[in-house]
Amino acid sequence: MVPAELAEALADAGRRMDARNWVPGSAGNLSARINDGQIAITRSGVHKGRLTQADIIAVDYAGKALTEGQKPSAETLLHCQLYRLFPPIGAVLHGHSVAATVLSMQGAITFSNFEILKAFGFTTHELDVILPVYENDQDIARLAAWIEPLIIREPPIGYAIAGHGVYAWGASVEHAFWRLEALEFLLQCELERRRSK
Ligand SMILES: [Zn+2]
Repeated sequence: MVPAELAEALADAGRRMDARNWVPGSAGNLSARINDGQIAITRSGVHKGRLTQADIIAVDYAGKALTEGQKPSAETLLHCQLYRLFPPIGAVLHGHSVAATVLSMQGAITFSNFEILKAFGFTTHELDVILPVYENDQDIARLAAWIEPLIIREPPIGYAIAGHGVYAWGASVEHAFWRLEALEFLLQCELERRRSK
């Protein structure tokens, strides 16, 4: 079972993501770690701005719903992978903003000298931080297998999928939202910067 406070925190994050236009249509998916064997995640095909507790379901680390008949988000395995590989991660948020979608079609994204990079724990703004971009693939198991060695070798601040959207994470739902907000701010800045060149 998904603890009520965890479901409510995810529903609230969904409403905030919707208010920023990061989850158009039924796009995006949100999750949080319940314990060492279970993850709470949005079910497939629901609007993330109107989540109820019934829309947040429990899956195991292989992405299988713990209640018969429930269908988790199509991208569940990408969430499971992050919890499996990185024990400090408590929540994962994924959205399809305009900036993430457009910029990710142009290859890997480098953020240089932005003050807000400090939101990711860096102590200076004087650095180049790469947001990796992976090719989109409707076969999520294959995509997860492709990503795995790359994020193990060099854990990124988040990652984008080309023409698709962005993944962010944090220790809690609130922390993941902060980091997603910082990442979206960076993407928006970078989009504006390229546009004004
Ligand atoms: Zn997606």
